[in-house]
Amino acid sequence: MTAQKHLPTQRHTVFQNSLMSALLDGIYDGELTVGELLGHGNFGIGTFDALDGEMIVLDGVCYQVRGDGTARQADLTQRSPFTVMTNFVPLIESRPPEGLRRGELSGFIDELQPSENYMYAVRITGRFSTVTVRTVTKQDKPYRPMVEATGDDAELTFTDVEGVIGGFRTPVYEKGIGVPGCHVHFIDAARTAGGHVLDFTLAAGSVELCPGTDLELRLPLTTQFSTAELTPGDLDEQIHRTEVKR
Ligand SMILES: [Zn+2]
Repeated sequence: MTAQKHLPTQRHTVFQNSLMSALLDGIYDGELTVGELLGHGNFGIGTFDALDGEMIVLDGVCYQVRGDGTARQADLTQRSPFTVMTNFVPLIESRPPEGLRRGELSGFIDELQPSENYMYAVRITGRFSTVTVRTVTKQDKPYRPMVEATGDDAELTFTDVEGVIGGFRTPVYEKGIGVPGCHVHFIDAARTAGGHVLDFTLAAGSVELCPGTDLELRLPLTTQFSTAELTPGDLDEQIHRTEVKR
């Protein structure tokens, strides 16, 4: 069977609040509230002020996953220092082979999508044999750089769990703006637990992609952002240590 590949034929905007490199530099307080962010999409991921947990937005509902892995619906007045949002339209859908793992996800997406040069929102819905997550924990001021703030994050593994993994596949040329490759968060079907995904094995489910052609980047007007170091020499290593971890 030849997979049918659809080149994007219409424009679709991905909205981003601040930069990954700003987060790495310890810019953990943002300007935008959850309520404002939901005006830019019904789907997304990010974090909260003071790095107080992982964010996942599904179907227009924003969830906060705290340091202990428990999830709750976020308040509309909570703020975020880094968020990526879009209105999710599942233009591409496929059922991957049983046992798809995180390390194989990018390759699987490459087979589905027509070009690595666009952005893709990714939604995986199904039953997972395992999902291993970490969750950032609330930081105190003065904020430490993210490599230090995430150095001792606890990892949690869920087994035989239903839920959704959502996030973005970002082109390598956006490194520093975002996290190159797949950056995805998990929340269980009951919306009670989740985190930033380090690894998973999908038992059965679907992978949906929403291609993005336009990036709307909103930079903070804060003093902290204006004086941040946004092009560190070891950017690759910092992203690997904070986001991939293995
Ligand atoms: Zn994350």
